[in-house]
Amino acid sequence: ATQEETLGFQTEVKQLLHLMIHSLYSNREIFLRELISNAADACDKLRYEALDNDALYENDSELRVEIEVDAEANSVTLRDTGIGMNRDEVIKNLGTIARSGTAEFLQQLSGEQQKDAKLIGQFGVGFYSGFIVADEVVVRTRRAGEPSEAGVEWRSKGEGEFTIAEIERPARGTEIVLYLKDDAKEFADDFRLKSLIRKYSDHIDVPVRMPKVESAKDEDGNPIEGSDVTTWETVNEATALWVRPKSDLSDDDYKAFYKHVAHDFSDPLTWSHNKVEGKLEYTSLLYVPGRAPFDLYERDGARGVKLYVQRVFIMDDAEQFLPLYLRFIKGVVDTKDLSLNVSRELLQQDPQVEKMKSALTKRSLDMLKKLAKDDAAYQTFWNTFGSVLKEGPAEDYANRDKIAGLLRFATTHTDSTTQDQSLAAYVERMQEGQQKIYYIVADSFNAAKNSPHLEIFRKKGIEVLLLSDRIDEWLMSHLTEFDGKSFVDVAKGELDLGEIEGEEEKKAQEETAKAKEDLLKRVKEALGEEVQEVKVTHRLTDSPACVVLPENEMGFQMRRIMEAAGQ
Ligand code: ADP
Ligand code: MG
Repeated sequence: ATQEETLGFQTEVKQLLHLMIHSLYSNREIFLRELISNAADACDKLRYEALDNDALYENDSELRVEIEVDAEANSVTLRDTGIGMNRDEVIKNLGTIARSGTAEFLQQLSGEQQKDAKLIGQFGVGFYSGFIVADEVVVRTRRAGEPSEAGVEWRSKGEGEFTIAEIERPARGTEIVLYLKDDAKEFADDFRLKSLIRKYSDHIDVPVRMPKVESAKDEDGNPIEGSDVTTWETVNEATALWVRPKSDLSDDDYKAFYKHVAHDFSDPLTWSHNKVEGKLEYTSLLYVPGRAPFDLYERDGARGVKLYVQRVFIMDDAEQFLPLYLRFIKGVVDTKDLSLNVSRELLQQDPQVEKMKSALTKRSLDMLKKLAKDDAAYQTFWNTFGSVLKEGPAEDYANRDKIAGLLRFATTHTDSTTQDQSLAAYVERMQEGQQKIYYIVADSFNAAKNSPHLEIFRKKGIEVLLLSDRIDEWLMSHLTEFDGKSFVDVAKGELDLGEIEGEEEKKAQEETAKAKEDLLKRVKEALGEEVQEVKVTHRLTDSPACVVLPENEMGFQMRRIMEAAGQ
């Protein structure tokens, strides 16, 4: 190796390494899944780049991953014939974490093993997981198409720094050697590795191979010394999972594949696998994750599906296939209807993509509807992604009824902060004569729950939705009705309880209003410009007075958002 150079890891990498080694101890085996997943991604990328440039195969078009154990050196080596990396790529990919929001994310980690293991899982552990089992990692790589002297060697003990050097490397692709820690020697074992490969990497369409040593036998069936031949044996199933018939696949197969595509650590909540034939031909496999990625609300957070065209990987994070409000959905779309050299720009204009988007949107909403039959699972989904789904009615007018059916609310029925009541359940509980769905929006759940505007509703036993998420007012301004019933903000305009109120009650109220005209005048004079109008109300049963917004006025939350935006 020439021109060796020592560089420091980015601060975030150091923090992540430290936390990972300490909190993922009991999940150590996942390092193999992560490294095979990267090797398979690298093969996918080469296959894609080679579409335009066959020379990148360098006369070896067989994409594969090889894994070997050296029991004496106590090491495990993974090798792939994928795209490889040049020096700059090595430094960027194996020395920094480029995702925005990483620093903030790492600050939330506490040093408590169990909690941090969960959080790191949500971040995705990736390449650095090698350091959970190894006290030194060596990467040798060369980018496909570059000359053999353009090889790069990267080494690190996973502490503060790594060294990088130029090497001669005839083989393209990447080789990773893990020098196992004393307490991780169990992984220097063919049998153990084979079972892990089957467990985690069956669904990857690149063959993962391990050496098999065979020797010629003499007449008695005894091995002949010196006749050993090593052959490579494919250990995994090595067919793309989504191509296989559903009946062949177990839940565990789907779950393992999810972890590869989603770069997630935990199980998905549910999935939907479909093959569509006809005018459009595509296969989709969509997943609902069990937890949110840390950058769900980052503008440039990764979203979208993995796109394949006739089994050839085209791109990650193709966001044109799903609306923004379904950005938590992960998965794969494989189609015959796009050209192999389709680009992100072309995807944006393609009418076929638009059609697939609309079909996949329906598919996703149906998948959620099905999930909703399982209360506990749906609650997990709702608590994690509910506020994203609430963006739906504004973004996707055509599907707003479907989306409305998937919403869950806190209401005066339970008076609990848990958002677990559907609109259908609300409608079922409506009072005789009630024609509207009532709601209140406030800054916090407690402010909503204790609002004086609710007094009359509580007295009459009419349920009110208690809304306090930042997005709720925006949501309600795009939801006009559900099941033929319109929505009414109880803090706005005239309160009309319709037929729930008797004629006598109304008469009594009118009389009170007349009798109090003088008082109203005096209050109005005292408040002056502060108010538009002072009225007698029958909203209240205990409180003496409350503030009401006119019907068409922007609500408190929207005002605040506009103010914050400088308007
Ligand atoms: P992720 O896979 O989520 O992008 P990782 O931490 O697993 O994150 O890997 C970081 C990056 O390092 C990858 O995105 C890829 O660019 C690069 N990389 C890792 N392993 C390989 C490999 N075997 N061949 C080529 N590039 C790789
Ligand atoms: Mg990875």
